[in-house]
Amino acid sequence: MSAMQATVVGGGLAGCECACQLADRGVDVTLYEMRPLAKSPAHHTDHLAELVCSNSFKSTRYDSAAGLLKDELLAMGSQLIRCAKQAAVPAGGALAVDRDVFSRLVERSIAERPRITVVREEVRELPVGHTVIAAGPLCSKTLCDALLARVGGDALSFFDAAAPIVDASTLDMDVLFAQSRYDDGTGADYLNAPLNKEEYEAFIEALVGADRVILKDFERRELFSACQPAEEVARTGKDAIRFGAMKPVGLTDPRTGRRPWAAVQLRAENAERTAYNLVGFQTNLTFAEQKRVFRMIPGLENAEFFRYGVMHRNTFVDSPHVLDGTFRIPDTHIRLAGQITGTEGYTEAIASGLLAALNTYADLAGIAHATLPVTGAFGSLVAYATDPNTQGYQPMHVNFGLVPPLDDGKRRSKRDRYGLYAARAMDDLSRYIESRPDLFSAETR
Ligand SMILES: Cc1cc2nc3c(=O)[nH]c(=O)nc-3n(C[C@H](O)[C@H](O)[C@H](O)COP(=O)(O)OP(=O)(O)OC[C@H]3O[C@@H](n4cnc5c(N)ncnc54)[C@H](O)[C@@H]3O)c2cc1C
Repeated sequence: MSAMQATVVGGGLAGCECACQLADRGVDVTLYEMRPLAKSPAHHTDHLAELVCSNSFKSTRYDSAAGLLKDELLAMGSQLIRCAKQAAVPAGGALAVDRDVFSRLVERSIAERPRITVVREEVRELPVGHTVIAAGPLCSKTLCDALLARVGGDALSFFDAAAPIVDASTLDMDVLFAQSRYDDGTGADYLNAPLNKEEYEAFIEALVGADRVILKDFERRELFSACQPAEEVARTGKDAIRFGAMKPVGLTDPRTGRRPWAAVQLRAENAERTAYNLVGFQTNLTFAEQKRVFRMIPGLENAEFFRYGVMHRNTFVDSPHVLDGTFRIPDTHIRLAGQITGTEGYTEAIASGLLAALNTYADLAGIAHATLPVTGAFGSLVAYATDPNTQGYQPMHVNFGLVPPLDDGKRRSKRDRYGLYAARAMDDLSRYIESRPDLFSAETR
């Protein structure tokens, strides 16, 4: 047994990455996961690292913030991004996975590390000793209350929305067509359901008028704009969704030889393409209404639903004001990681778990904390999420709006600028990793 010990609460994306990283640095870890004994409103299995909604880790383009984040994680030796790459299913320029394969690979990574002990139990009080709380946006109520009592700030909670998944064998393939908007040779990864003007208008009318769940509660809350339910987007204007999830740009319906008025895209959920999710159709409609309204989409008239869209609680703390620069509760050994810190997204949760491991290890080993370069996708998000000047903190994805601008005064296209941001970030990160052999060794990368 090692002299270094830590507790990780939550066997989700952040918690599993954190546990692996700590173990690889010689720390004995007790990893608590409450499922299957206690349930969350969004998880469906008892697997570790379950993806609760989309199966996509977003773009792999090197000149996008989401793509850069993955490169940063690989450079730092992320275990879960490796698992995601192994579990990948075709998805154009995105890293999408077979969610069951992904969870199994993560479970195997945990099982292969004898320093990690998994305990299936709900943690109801804040543990003593070095701890990382990675209990996610659906953290159990008792722990949430204990946490709030300790941090003394306000927990902000709101609702997120998940998209429905349909059974591929019930789709009309004479109507749907495989094509990528960007003609990048990845056409087969997406199916498109074309709508003409009349079909689109009837669909929008039905979508906007359909019965919703928790209507009043929902309407009182400010929505997270990155995950707005489709019906809420549609309510903002007749054509709003035609410029978003249903945009027909770059698509040609082979039956007419023309661009459709609008299109719904379906993305494969697994390598076998037996299930598809309706891209951008996170929804708060009742299940009966989802069946009625989504079956109005051409090609989906007989669609069977593997999973209906749902809305969920999503809790996060006011990190810039109640945590320190390493996401630690001041004057304690307790650190937070994952979505509960307000760093939003699957890949961001993995990055946050990795960073929490580095800093917990630094505390245990008596070395300097990790300070990721602010030019990076994740470093800039951390800077934002821990800056006490940040006002009205809301969950935030990585994005290039957070990185310091290039200071050479030159005018460039967005693509060129993003490419330079990415190159600068990877240079800075490589230098940082080289400068910290106490945090990153050959074994941890
Ligand atoms: C409904 C919903 C849909 C989302 N969809 C997406 C999406 O499509 N794409 C995206 O990028 N991001 C999405 N997110 C945001 C976020 O990326 C995910 O929630 C992600 O899983 C967060 O990772 P995490 O490790 O912080 O939490 P989780 O992956 O949720 O892991 C937390 C774990 O802690 C466990 N736990 C909770 N309380 C306790 C306790 N007291 N004791 C022991 N264990 C406990 C839970 O069972 C869970 O396994 C979504 C969030 C929600 C709520």
